[in-house]
Amino acid sequence: MTITRKADFPGLLTAEGKAWHYLDTAATAQKPQIVVDAAAKAMGADYATVHRGVYSRSAEMTLGYEAARRRVAEFIGGQEDEITFTRGATEAINLVAYTWGAQELKAGDRILLSRLEHHSNIVPWQILRDQIGFEIDVCPLTVDGQIDLDAAEQMLTPQHKLVALAHVSNVLGSVLDVKRAAGLAHCVGAKLLLDGCQAVPRVPVDVAALDCDFYVFSGHKLYGPTGIGALWAKKPILDAMPPWQGGGSMIDRVTFEKTTYAPAPQRFEAGTPAIVEAIALAVACDYVSGIGLEAIHAHEARLVAATREALRGMNDVTVFGPEDTAGIVSFALDGVHPHDLGTILDEENVAIRAGHHCAQPLMDHLGVPATARASFGLYSDDDDVAALIRGIDRTRRIFG
Ligand code: PMP
Repeated sequence: MTITRKADFPGLLTAEGKAWHYLDTAATAQKPQIVVDAAAKAMGADYATVHRGVYSRSAEMTLGYEAARRRVAEFIGGQEDEITFTRGATEAINLVAYTWGAQELKAGDRILLSRLEHHSNIVPWQILRDQIGFEIDVCPLTVDGQIDLDAAEQMLTPQHKLVALAHVSNVLGSVLDVKRAAGLAHCVGAKLLLDGCQAVPRVPVDVAALDCDFYVFSGHKLYGPTGIGALWAKKPILDAMPPWQGGGSMIDRVTFEKTTYAPAPQRFEAGTPAIVEAIALAVACDYVSGIGLEAIHAHEARLVAATREALRGMNDVTVFGPEDTAGIVSFALDGVHPHDLGTILDEENVAIRAGHHCAQPLMDHLGVPATARASFGLYSDDDDVAALIRGIDRTRRIFG
């Protein structure tokens, strides 16, 4: 299945109007013009605050903002009152840590993470661990770079209160068997948090069917704006979570003696929200749904397969991760630092990511300080793959 939507994305040209082979979509996705237009309209002709104004523009903006919540909920198979808008996945995980985690986790409890987690699904738990005194266990990976759920099954005990895993790895592209992970977590009475940052733009997500307890993602990886993301949580869990940041909008009644709080999810959205960004994110959801995640997944899988195939033909290249990854290929070129490769590729108008990808424990596991990562989006095509391979070949010649 081939998708040809490059023309929808104004960011995919260089300043000189040449093709820009953007292969860093896992870091952040380029935006289709309709999302840019929606943001401009929300910040321009439609602009007003939400939830407060008695004038009609504000009432309309409030309808738009709440419609965006409904749209985002629908996009991942949830209900609108289960969605809290956050600045992104990082803030969503911190929100869970400092509300649910601070309330539910006690000294002597354990939580299970995996070796391939992004720092944003490690560090918040470490900060909380240092305050509370629970233990963090680390699930190992299989040889090909999947979270080893057989090992997780052995490791999990009734002391485990939370299992927090990436749905799709931002480095290896490996896709978690979520239903099995949910079964394992729930079997010992633990909750399952999924970091859906890389999954939401790449695979169909239905939180109800997946049976997770928390699901987080960032809008900017889903072809939407930065500064907006979402936490989805099962309603009874959300209802029992204490407030986090205090301020306007999250209260029911404030006096100096006592403040009562708004119901979830408003309780978790203190202050004036990212109105423009939420509305534009809903348009990004429409755009992606219009193409279909099955089609996007198949399209990216074909590009991943072509890239892995070409890289396998180079005897000085190591390709990491399993064969059937979701849109992401990490690799290393013998004797060439990924930053040097990235710099030479930039001269060819090819943009890849070189570094630890905010996953240093995974780099330690792979035995490298950094990898080169090519990550695809719905707009990527065979020309991008060809340009990447040409650039890598040129780099190999330069380095002899
Ligand atoms: N988790 C994963 C798997 C990611 O790829 C990222 C972004 N690189 C994050 C979490 C953090 O997302 P953000 O920086 O948008 O909060």
